Amino acid sequence: MTARGIRAFSPRAKSHDSRALERDSLRKSTRHVICSLLPMEVKCMFTTRWRIFRLAGIPIYLDLSWLIILVLITWTLANVFASEVPRLPRLDYWVMGLVSALAFFMCVVLHELGHAIVGRAQGMPIRGITLFMFGGVAELGGEPPSAKSEFWMAIAGPIVSAVLGAIFWVAASLGNQAGWSSPVVVVLLHLAVINWLVLAFNMIPAFPLDGGRVLRSALWGISRNLRRSTYWASLLGQGFAWVLIGVGLWQLFQGPAGLFSGLWLGLIGLFLNNAARESYQQIVIRQALEGEPVSQFMNREPIIVPPVLDLRSWVEDYVYRHHRKVFPVAANGHLEGYVSTRALQRFPRAEWERHTVGEVMNHNVQAITIPPTADALTALGKMQRTGSSRLLVTEGDRLVGIVSLKDLMHFMKVKMEVENDRHDDDAGHQKTTEDHEHYVHS
Ligand SMILES: [Zn+2]
Repeated sequence: MTARGIRAFSPRAKSHDSRALERDSLRKSTRHVICSLLPMEVKCMFTTRWRIFRLAGIPIYLDLSWLIILVLITWTLANVFASEVPRLPRLDYWVMGLVSALAFFMCVVLHELGHAIVGRAQGMPIRGITLFMFGGVAELGGEPPSAKSEFWMAIAGPIVSAVLGAIFWVAASLGNQAGWSSPVVVVLLHLAVINWLVLAFNMIPAFPLDGGRVLRSALWGISRNLRRSTYWASLLGQGFAWVLIGVGLWQLFQGPAGLFSGLWLGLIGLFLNNAARESYQQIVIRQALEGEPVSQFMNREPIIVPPVLDLRSWVEDYVYRHHRKVFPVAANGHLEGYVSTRALQRFPRAEWERHTVGEVMNHNVQAITIPPTADALTALGKMQRTGSSRLLVTEGDRLVGIVSLKDLMHFMKVKMEVENDRHDDDAGHQKTTEDHEHYVHS
């Protein structure tokens, strides 16, 4: 359908070889544009990004790496257009390429927006949409509430791409009949094809691509077990990622022509593999920690530094004894702040005796405190955001404990072992096999 379309709209008849070459280069530039719906904990690879605008209240970000794919697609399309619409000034092809590439990325934004709006309607927090070197990512603030909502959220993006492709196709047909200039018709036609290629690539059932999400929602609907469904979908996603890496490596050894394409495929494979694994881990963490109150993990007798203590005594009696760098400062049970060894840099060692902890402590405890009733998942999120592996547990301004990342991880490990035993009890056969394996290995 698409190949015939390109031929039909081509202004001049061309050799079979050159047509095949064009189609091939077009596919190469666009088939590897992915769309991914990732939990926000997983997408932390964006370091330099700008918010460009808001659509339907959802912030759209541009990652610096997006410039790479913009240049790549502009360049590829300019070459395709040069062979399809001959005898134009060289600059025109670049303009056509750039306009198509920008329009295409607007389509990617709309595709992501499809996911985001449906997700939001299902009650999921949407943090934003980011365009980056492999395409687009919609950041989710959690997991979908049900298999059905996941299905609709996952399929919404591909539906948008399908519709956009159809709109461009109809516009190209009408334009062709109305005698629009061939550059315009060719650009519209390619936008149709590109949207459909994006649709096709993203419907591959490799989690966390859209198709993988659809697959997971089906498994989830049948098995009623989100963790197991994610496990299998993620395994398939990782398998597909390894296939991409394999094909990429093979292309690398096919001479200079395959160098770039091979490298690109390999990078996408690595990205997907990582995203699939991390998405699964995120589910495991979420299920283990959700609904477990912080009070269950906290150390109820934290080591507290009084504000009147001088710095020298603090270092010798607290820092060196307990091997920690940060301590809560409290007097009569009331939290006043926290003190970090970083504060010592302000004074030469000889002056430590003349200054107190109260002088150098940080009063801004908002970022590292949490109420005892908060759930452990919230605590973990706060630790990730602030980079602090310990949080002070407070009731009002009273310090009631300290919760550490180590404690959370330890609890998670124990809970997972217990839960896995339970799952295996359900499937008696599996338990026997695993017990046997233990026996063999030990
Ligand atoms: Zn998508």
